[in-house]
Amino acid sequence: MTSLFLPDKIKAEFLLDIFGDRSTKGLIDSDDNEDFDARLLSLEKSWDEREIATGKEKPLFSSYFVANIAEDMKEKMFLPVRRSTGLGDNCYFNNCPESMNSCLKKEINHQKKSSNLGESSKCSYSEFADISQKFVEKYQRNIHRAILGDSPYMLAPECADLEVFKEQWEKLSKGRKIAKITLLDECGAEDNEESPASPSTSASRSCSSSQILPDFESTGLPSNLKQSWSNAEMIFQKNEFTKVQASSGLSAVISLRKPNQVHIIKKASGGISCDCDGFKNYKMCSHEIAASQQDGTLRELIAKWQPNLSNIVQ
Ligand SMILES: [Zn+2]
Repeated sequence: MTSLFLPDKIKAEFLLDIFGDRSTKGLIDSDDNEDFDARLLSLEKSWDEREIATGKEKPLFSSYFVANIAEDMKEKMFLPVRRSTGLGDNCYFNNCPESMNSCLKKEINHQKKSSNLGESSKCSYSEFADISQKFVEKYQRNIHRAILGDSPYMLAPECADLEVFKEQWEKLSKGRKIAKITLLDECGAEDNEESPASPSTSASRSCSSSQILPDFESTGLPSNLKQSWSNAEMIFQKNEFTKVQASSGLSAVISLRKPNQVHIIKKASGGISCDCDGFKNYKMCSHEIAASQQDGTLRELIAKWQPNLSNIVQ
């Protein structure tokens, strides 16, 4: 369609005739072969008229479509085929990967041309790996920058309370920055923990010494949880956890052992769980204890705790 040099408005009309939209059915939604053929016949006429109206002597689109696309569409894409393959009435496009492919190609072209003026834009496999890594990182940083409201992207409503002003961001400890980014992009925080803002010079840690955990001995928990308890106290005092709003039930707690890693705590109707090894082994961990203390649900957590029987049996 691009090579026909049709005006954008006409192209959009043709696409609407073929693919439809939410309110209009397109040729692709024809009920059966006869319906498809009848619709196509009437479309051919109107497509020709519209092309001629743009000043062309001979219309080309309809004959191209009939010769090259129509049979393919009937065989692979139209409604009865989609239904019989279990896809239902919706259409599925590869527009997103195609768009990403086109952006990546442009980036390769740009990188090659700016480093090698006049040279070919073909690149080696290792150059491709470097360029695509930077390309993905750029998108990732843009996602992270949504936290500061300084990004082409916006935070989804369920993550809206992650947003902070730049001045606030710079005052956050590294741990809290990582925690916030991890809640938005689980795989992105470790390598980009200083983004979205420029590296902060001093990681300030706010200590809240007024609130500490109750004495471990008074909880009745077994002694193998004592270490988790004291770690929780440390996490809690460093204030190294952050939460997204209650509806999504997620909290992120910084790992004491690996300061660039975050553990995600999920709260659901079935209870609270953490992705760390401590939770797997004991069904309770320092991250969970610290988050519950902050929530005011620590008492409940202790009351509901049950030992991991499978672990004891082993
Ligand atoms: Zn944990």
